[in-house]
Amino acid sequence: MTPFFKIDSRIETAADNALNRCKEQFADIERITEFNQLKVQKAFIDNGISESHFVSSTGYGYGDRGRETLDKVWAQVLCAEDALVRHNFVCGTHTLSTALFGVLRPGDTMLCVTGTPYDTIHGVIGITGEGMGSLKDFGVKYEEVPLLDEKPDLEAIFNAVNIDTTMVYIQRSRGYELRPSLTIDEIEKIVKTAKSKNPKVIVMVDNCYGEFVEKREPLEVGADLIAGSMIKNAGGGIATTGGYIAGRHDLVEKCSYRLTTPGLGKEVGATLSMNRELFMGLFYAPHTVGEALKSAVFISALFDSFGYATTPKYNEKRADIVQSLGLENEESLVAFCQGVQSGSPVDSFVLPEPWDMPGYDSKVVMAAGAFTLGSSIELSADAPIREPFYAWIQGGLNFHSAKICALLAAQQMLDKGLLKGI
Ligand SMILES: *Cc1c(COP(=O)(O)O)cnc(C)c1O
Repeated sequence: MTPFFKIDSRIETAADNALNRCKEQFADIERITEFNQLKVQKAFIDNGISESHFVSSTGYGYGDRGRETLDKVWAQVLCAEDALVRHNFVCGTHTLSTALFGVLRPGDTMLCVTGTPYDTIHGVIGITGEGMGSLKDFGVKYEEVPLLDEKPDLEAIFNAVNIDTTMVYIQRSRGYELRPSLTIDEIEKIVKTAKSKNPKVIVMVDNCYGEFVEKREPLEVGADLIAGSMIKNAGGGIATTGGYIAGRHDLVEKCSYRLTTPGLGKEVGATLSMNRELFMGLFYAPHTVGEALKSAVFISALFDSFGYATTPKYNEKRADIVQSLGLENEESLVAFCQGVQSGSPVDSFVLPEPWDMPGYDSKVVMAAGAFTLGSSIELSADAPIREPFYAWIQGGLNFHSAKICALLAAQQMLDKGLLKGI
């Protein structure tokens, strides 16, 4: 099939069959990609984007047209009243933290309705850590509604929301859990349930890994505030750092006071040379997300055909770009990650090994050969070495490049005598 890589003919045949099984899913992804691409393109045209918006500012960055217009373009794409897109957000966690601290005040209550949130948010809320200045340290109360059979428990949410609930917090993506990600329809149901109990409640969505996976975004179904990372879906694989917050104008303004200072807000902040890549990243994002989705669907179909557990299944509806594979033992997780790494455009010569990563209670093995360090819209795989021996795979700047990495992962497993179903 390819003169450039050595792949066993049985794996090649399995790949051809897997690809055939994915036709319907690929066609669906294609339709969503086109819809979102045109949505983005229209926003660029409506805002009259030109070379002048890419000019870089220094110092205080007063009157930076690029920065101000980028916010407008993003707001239009996300159906937001206002947006704050900044390279100054150092990662997704920082962006979410800025939004939470921006909006919540001492005595307020934050209610997470999708179970315990993503690991790195625990320290922000104060579930873990003490004296670091978490929301808890500042007197913000935290409550949680667990999932019921891996789905939002609408009845329990209805019971948990009351007039003292300031914020309902939703995590759209599965993150590094095995539960399904939330569809926009499910987010809509949560919003309706929460607001029927307290119309003033602020619904915030952690939108990481979810942007452009569906035709609609959470603000279109009644969420008030969303946030995400620019080195995941939203940056299209082009942005090299940053995050965004979008939603109701008054809330985004509060977040801007937290990012810079009360009073200064959005009016300051040199863009250095970041405007062009943030615009370009947004322009590419729908397409790149489509490629990442195709990659996930294909990997799911291929490993399903070998007899491994996959979630989501290749033909299940997706609400984020994350794919998990049950590879059954440590050796297979390591071989899989090594195979993926060996096909990466960057750092292909590196051999991933399990290590004691700070903040994790088991060893973790990771494959990442990315142009942007830690970018997970680029193909990457992470696997904690513990039961049930699942690998989490996400990203893929383009399908063909992700596909060969998947084949090399299978090949590496075959070479070690680990691959099932062959
Ligand atoms: C990635 C992610 C975050 C945090 O982002 P970082 O950039 O790693 O700090 C938060 N929530 C979810 C669901 C994520 O996927």
